[in-house]
Amino acid sequence: MKVPFLDLSLQHRALREQALAALTATYDATRFCLGKDVEDFENAFATTLGYPAALALNSGTSPLHLAAALAGWGPGDEVIAPPFTFISTVWGISYVGATPVFVDVEQDTFNLDPAKIEAAITPRTKGIIAVHLFGQPARMQEIMTIARKHGLFVVEDCAQAAGATYQGTPVGLLGDAGTFSFYPTKNLGGCGEGGAFVSRRDDLFAKAKLLRVHGSGRRYFHDHVGFNFRMDGFQGALLGVKLPHLAGWTARRREIATRYRAGIKLANTLLPVSGCSEGESVWHQFTLRHPKREALRAHLATSDVGTDLIYPVPLHRQACYAQLGYAEGALPVAEQACATVLSLPIFPELTNEQVDHVIASVNAFPG
Ligand SMILES: *Cc1c(COP(=O)(O)O)cnc(C)c1O
Repeated sequence: MKVPFLDLSLQHRALREQALAALTATYDATRFCLGKDVEDFENAFATTLGYPAALALNSGTSPLHLAAALAGWGPGDEVIAPPFTFISTVWGISYVGATPVFVDVEQDTFNLDPAKIEAAITPRTKGIIAVHLFGQPARMQEIMTIARKHGLFVVEDCAQAAGATYQGTPVGLLGDAGTFSFYPTKNLGGCGEGGAFVSRRDDLFAKAKLLRVHGSGRRYFHDHVGFNFRMDGFQGALLGVKLPHLAGWTARRREIATRYRAGIKLANTLLPVSGCSEGESVWHQFTLRHPKREALRAHLATSDVGTDLIYPVPLHRQACYAQLGYAEGALPVAEQACATVLSLPIFPELTNEQVDHVIASVNAFPG
């Protein structure tokens, strides 16, 4: 039995008729940049997931750039972020000329460790970016307590956590700004690039809306130095077709995770937790840890089970941040994660037979 790490074709085949009809309508109406399809998607996204409003953008990196601009971060400012995440998390910090300061993650959730944040705060610290990695909410209560005490602007990178809540609040509304990605592999993936920005602060949201389109509220009048972060009409139309399925897809991801957690019995294996006490994961990834993960990966490949290494290198050890001067061993939990993680297939269209084949193959690893 073959179990690919990810197969996007199943989901897109199922929605083909609806998707093509939506694209045709957008094409015939020549609604190519923002427009009604994007607005309808923004409203549906906000209503479905519990946001006061949402701004659709052209990628998941753009809202992180937008948030850094809205925060007013700039040269000389330091912004705290986790090192075990996708690089986009910190691009916004660098784009505005500020400096990322990496704080180690927790062993059990892979997320920013609140207990290590305060030691990294200096008079130059202006913000924190918390990531809800692999769909698992970060410990926002502790993070926000520290942020309030030090007057820091908090961004939540929700790229992998669409649909997740923390203490009943949708992720992205706990800090100052929340950012999403609709890259095709995300839990809610478009057919191309896309992203979104949310905020519980009306002032911030209003300014984000201006910055998204050239800093302009009135055509050819520019109050701010802005961006072109518009979402395409086609992308809005396609995301509108997919959004109603997100809740069902999330439920299926949770079922698969539960099945993995109950079935995998391999010795020396650390399984991902089902949630920190305040938030339940939407399982963007199912990432276990094993000291011999390369051998385990090769073993699974011989059983036709696809896997991925997410992530092999922590951000503080990336070549582009060599000038920041982090030595090997500086952030040991993140480095240990990079050396031992292995992600198993977890997409909604997997059958129970496929999941059981993965479980049996993992358990058959001779070690
Ligand atoms: C996908 C992702 C982003 C945004 O990526 P884009 O490719 O620009 O959509 C940001 N942060 C994290 C953690 C991600 O996984």
